[in-house]
Amino acid sequence: MNNIVENNQLLPQPYIDKMASILPKHLSLQEFVDSCHRPLRRAIRVNTLKTSVEAFLLRAQEHDWKLTAIPWCTEGFWIELDEQEVPLGNSFEHLSGLIYIQEASSMMPVAALFHLFDASSNATLLDAAAAPGSKTTQIAAKMGNKGLIIANEFSASRIKMLHANTQRCGIKNVALTHFDAKIFGNWLPNTFDAILLDAPCSGEGTIRKDKLAMKNWNQQAIDEISSVQTGLIESAFHALKEGGVLIYSTCTLSLEENQQVCFSLQQKFPDAVEFVPLNDLFDNATETATEEGFLHIWPQVYDTEGFFVAAIRKTEKTDPERSNKRIAKMPFIRPTRQKEAELYAYFKEQFGINDIDGMLFIRDKEYWLFPDNIKPLINKVRFSRLGIKIAEEFGNYKKSGFKTQHEFVTAFEKQATTNIVELDAAQAKEYYQGKDIRDVETNGASGEVLVSYRGQIISLGKALNNRLKNNLPRELIRDKNLFDK
Ligand code: SAM
Repeated sequence: MNNIVENNQLLPQPYIDKMASILPKHLSLQEFVDSCHRPLRRAIRVNTLKTSVEAFLLRAQEHDWKLTAIPWCTEGFWIELDEQEVPLGNSFEHLSGLIYIQEASSMMPVAALFHLFDASSNATLLDAAAAPGSKTTQIAAKMGNKGLIIANEFSASRIKMLHANTQRCGIKNVALTHFDAKIFGNWLPNTFDAILLDAPCSGEGTIRKDKLAMKNWNQQAIDEISSVQTGLIESAFHALKEGGVLIYSTCTLSLEENQQVCFSLQQKFPDAVEFVPLNDLFDNATETATEEGFLHIWPQVYDTEGFFVAAIRKTEKTDPERSNKRIAKMPFIRPTRQKEAELYAYFKEQFGINDIDGMLFIRDKEYWLFPDNIKPLINKVRFSRLGIKIAEEFGNYKKSGFKTQHEFVTAFEKQATTNIVELDAAQAKEYYQGKDIRDVETNGASGEVLVSYRGQIISLGKALNNRLKNNLPRELIRDKNLFDK
């Protein structure tokens, strides 16, 4: 094979040969290799649960951030900024959940999902491989925090990141599970209205972000992961309701992990699988569309990572083998009406928050809010975290009251009207350094207050004589290189 390319330092020749053999005719191999060597453009997605795109654009202007709209995601922008002093991850916009730092092509699977599926349908969705949560939070924002997302992740350490991100973004319509996603088909057949399987993959498309991504590239690893993906897509398909949509995506380019995984599903269920073409997802989608209407995204076409997105509709029920699952009894009970009324009266009086949707449950002295759609699943799955923890009882709550939780604040802050303490820039910076704030204007507020900076509520604090006790979760604390506006 004569696939000689220039200036290649990162890609093994067998990989180049393989890509040359599958590259569409209208694309150039040299441009593919060149694009793999160019740094990836930074991108963010505006979290519309916390702010509007218009309000974010004004903030971006103040920062001198240069934005370019991402064609397939109304809330997504490529961003050019100087990160020497303040990395984007230390910006106020990121820390307060106004934005999610997310690669542009990675916004495409959820865009495809809601291109085919009504976001306002109060649906129950499965995000089968969810951590660190870029797509879970994108789905939640599209659904306006309504309905239910079961966000599953197999890796225990990554579940923690998933929770930190859903909490930062104020997501409340989520339940986290911790399973190998291949169990869903046998456990919960024909259950979910829509499913995203953003599958574990060999990551060939990530070379622009990670120079070492191709260091250990080998065909055997690809064949192995392809067989895992084939099992995962089959299980996800079983778990999907008749009429539902499954989005399959990867950040890799090999046919074995993409097209062939979809074809294997079609071969297994010829009467139930319908590939839904994504050619009209956005202007220019045809540039990367395959014959079947999958989007096989070569990195040079939209100047992104390499990616793959397929949409599959389930046209009839499937009948997998059922497996028995043993579920321990749920340790939660419903509170008495009186207790619920007392807690909600406290939130109303203390913060002016009075529209609390979801079902309230208690475990020991903890109060949790579950999304309503969880009812049919509640004794069918073991959850590693269900809904959000909104309060704890403080000793005898009748005497000492309730202790509100950070998650409640991030999810319901938009409704708050009272006991809001506004910080100035220097104080906000200290707050994100984990410090208590002295000499703050509390306007007579005492007890639990909402901490705000530039009109955006970021946390819960405790005010006492013009002092504000810090209550930020540890993962949001930054020692240095913090924002200054
Ligand atoms: N959807 C995520 C996002 O947008 O932030 C990225 C998901 S990443 C491509 C794939 C994830 O699948 C990884 O977090 C990995 O730990 C997880 N994973 C690997 N094997 C799995 C399995 N058998 N079942 C469920 N998740 C798995």
